Amino acid sequence: MLVVMRMDAREEDIRGAVEKIESHGLKAHPIPGAQRTAIGITGNIGIVEPVLFESLPGVLEVIQVSHPYKLVSREFKAEATVVDVSGVKIGGRDLAIIAGPCSVESYDQTLRIARAIKEAGAHLLRGGAYKPRTSPYSFQGLGREGLEILARVREETGLPVVTEALDIDVLDLVAEYADMVQIGARNMQNYTLLKRAGRCGKPVLLKRGMNATVTELLLAAEYILDQGNNQVVLCERGIRTFADHTRNTLDVAAIPAVHRISHLPIIADPSHAAGKRHKVVALSRSSVAVGADGLMVEVHDAPEEALSDGYQALSPGEFSDLMVEVRNLAPVVDRDVPSYVGT
Ligand code: PEP
Ligand code: MN
Repeated sequence: MLVVMRMDAREEDIRGAVEKIESHGLKAHPIPGAQRTAIGITGNIGIVEPVLFESLPGVLEVIQVSHPYKLVSREFKAEATVVDVSGVKIGGRDLAIIAGPCSVESYDQTLRIARAIKEAGAHLLRGGAYKPRTSPYSFQGLGREGLEILARVREETGLPVVTEALDIDVLDLVAEYADMVQIGARNMQNYTLLKRAGRCGKPVLLKRGMNATVTELLLAAEYILDQGNNQVVLCERGIRTFADHTRNTLDVAAIPAVHRISHLPIIADPSHAAGKRHKVVALSRSSVAVGADGLMVEVHDAPEEALSDGYQALSPGEFSDLMVEVRNLAPVVDRDVPSYVGT
């Protein structure tokens, strides 16, 4: 951290700032410049709050030089983390494709869709048993029955399962059934839930909050790693902006931004960003092009009857076409789309 003094700061202001810094057990390093003095701070173990020094006499601004996150940063671990979801790798050279319905609606519906996405080449099955819905009158998910359906469909198809834990009451149950536990956008800053996810023993898919910065996303992941779970995949799913031509604005720039700062993999969810199926393929292409480690795409075989997010679901045929495009695009960005041999 750097405390930048004003041009007209007096000697006693600089001395006062140095003493204040030292009074917190930190080291102050005054760096006199041609126009002004800056004071470097070292010796901190945790985060130093800029507010401690901002209002001292003669101080112009306090600049954060080091980052608030540690375990998720490339400074801490230079090589990319590869997350293993029951044999499916996310974060290496291989692209991981997660697909399935927004909600688990019945055994037959989930099995039909799972078979179709597997046939098209998807690696993991998604489907919500606990749904975060804007209206309390909308379908809330099948709960435990939904988890049991996912487990049966996994048995049938061999596809590992990603499903959301909506709160701490259900997290352990979800972790028991799921191969990967999803923390949804609305819960990205639910710190109690993040800590529990850090102790659940399963890989975690952490979706970016719709109003969260990249720093906030990384700090949310830091909570999970801090509990000893480094099997975390981030997900860019669109953020709220003034744009009204999509449900959310897919912030593709967040993907290279995360890769630069963090060793954690990041995938894109073009479905919740687009909100309409006709934009999903284009956003998928752009996500792969900027370096996403995978995609999560909603697929439904009767989208007009879907109990949630039907407008943005691809049909199995459209998903199959998307997979062809992803396979064609992958080598251009030096990636592979693996085929797993399953049941
Ligand atoms: C979902 O994946 O079904 C979902 C609810 O996503 P998000 O949390 O990104 O809105
Ligand atoms: Mn959805």
